[in-house]
Amino acid sequence: MLVPTPLSEEHFRGQIGRVGLLNSFHDSQETTWRVRRIGGDVAEQGVIERTASVLARLSNLSVGEYIRRHTLIPYQSFYHRTHWSHVGGRWPFTTLGSSSNNVARYCELCTADDIELHGFSYWRRGHQLPGMMWCLRHKIPLRQHQRKHAFDILPQNAKGSAVTDLGFDTASSVIHRFLRISELLLEIQQPIEESAFKPRLVKMALARKLRTGLTGSNPPPSDIVVNTCSESWLASVFPGIEGKRRNEFFVAIDAATRSSPANSATASFAIVLSIFFDDASEAVKWLFDDSPGQDSR
Ligand SMILES: [Zn+2]
Repeated sequence: MLVPTPLSEEHFRGQIGRVGLLNSFHDSQETTWRVRRIGGDVAEQGVIERTASVLARLSNLSVGEYIRRHTLIPYQSFYHRTHWSHVGGRWPFTTLGSSSNNVARYCELCTADDIELHGFSYWRRGHQLPGMMWCLRHKIPLRQHQRKHAFDILPQNAKGSAVTDLGFDTASSVIHRFLRISELLLEIQQPIEESAFKPRLVKMALARKLRTGLTGSNPPPSDIVVNTCSESWLASVFPGIEGKRRNEFFVAIDAATRSSPANSATASFAIVLSIFFDDASEAVKWLFDDSPGQDSR
């Protein structure tokens, strides 16, 4: 079986697609099945996990490196340090399967650059982040290729429609920061423990007279988010937000600053940071800086 080396920032589903193209397999389902069969001694159990593990080995990368460079796991699990150390200094493998195989996004200018450089184009993982609607490098709308096994063809052959009509220059600065923070979280080398920053985040919310519990008279952070982001974009990242009423606790956002333990996702932390900070790099730096005095903001 021919297995191409993954390219810089290539999404693992794209690499699976290229393995399929090179070996004339029917689709990514057949490719994952064939790839899995090679890796008899791979520990991972899930279909996608096992496939990624074997691809890592065939690409001469450790599983950890492969996950760090070619999946969205660093973004999804940046606050899972405990789990990370439990699995022997590797990213937790738990969320790999959740990135959809039916929607693939690409940038037309990146595609053109790739063809010039490599002779073909490939799928970048940063473009697949939740809510990503532009290429942050080229500042043009990404295009969305939607069908079963969407990564099975190269971006240059995909017929995609624009993800958004919202112009890069006219969109809210909160959305811009959210996307940049998401990109930065994808690049982090090691996860952090949620408890290392969550109390500081709660404190920041209280200092802004925002609510950190289910009930209360102050507005929850989600009220500010609704007022500063376009409705269609918000609905794509936080389904159900369309029905949210003013002053109502919206768990997918407000869990990030809830004072009692709550199940949060990365997007909830990223959006709350986007309304608390003016600068994305500063926000991410603050998140990882747990030295004393950093909570006085
Ligand atoms: Zn681009």
